[in-house]
Amino acid sequence: MRARVDIWVRRLRQTMARLPLGTPRECCLCGARVWRFLPYRGGWRDAPPLLRSFRVIGSDLDNYLCPVCGCHDRERHLLLYLRQAELMAKIRGSHVLHFAPEARLTSFIERASPARHILADPFPSRPGVERIDLLSIPYPTASFDLVIANHVLEHVADDLRALSEVRRVLKVGGYAILQTPYSELLASTFSDPGVCSDEARLQIYGQEDRVRLYGCLTRPRSTMRWRHKTR
Ligand SMILES: [Zn+2]
Repeated sequence: MRARVDIWVRRLRQTMARLPLGTPRECCLCGARVWRFLPYRGGWRDAPPLLRSFRVIGSDLDNYLCPVCGCHDRERHLLLYLRQAELMAKIRGSHVLHFAPEARLTSFIERASPARHILADPFPSRPGVERIDLLSIPYPTASFDLVIANHVLEHVADDLRALSEVRRVLKVGGYAILQTPYSELLASTFSDPGVCSDEARLQIYGQEDRVRLYGCLTRPRSTMRWRHKTR
């Protein structure tokens, strides 16, 4: 009975969210104008207390899912970023390596006419996605103009090795988009092997399958050094 009520409540919320009431919002991926985007789980209010106290920046938990096309906020943010940074225009004729490829964003990148668009995931869940481990990318050095791994590194055990692999396959002058959740209140990245249960990872890192929480020293630790060498 409880499960049936939950299903009806979810359907009602989805239906309500589709209505263009009040100040409608627009999904940049499907173009729909909706009353609101649906929250991730219970939204920011139900996020683990530790994440709230660290004011973790990552997903917009209150405005997560488009009720029309099902895209999540990270896809919308990434599309907006690609456009604002004028990277979408650079995709034509370029070689793109896209980890954990977001289905709807993938179609936008395809329409930008890349010369090659490799969809990569260590556990592919749909046709067209190659089984590729970020820690051992099976492509030669300087193969790609753009590497995308959106909200991936926080799930990878050896993120510095992953960054090294990204740098290896990236052409000089290429771009990598490696967005992760982080906290500006944390001086350094936090990870501890004692945080080893799903519940502990959820409470401390924010999801059951994350292995760290990045702090504000993330850039000097890896990315900035790496960027100087490749740009
Ligand atoms: Zn949408």
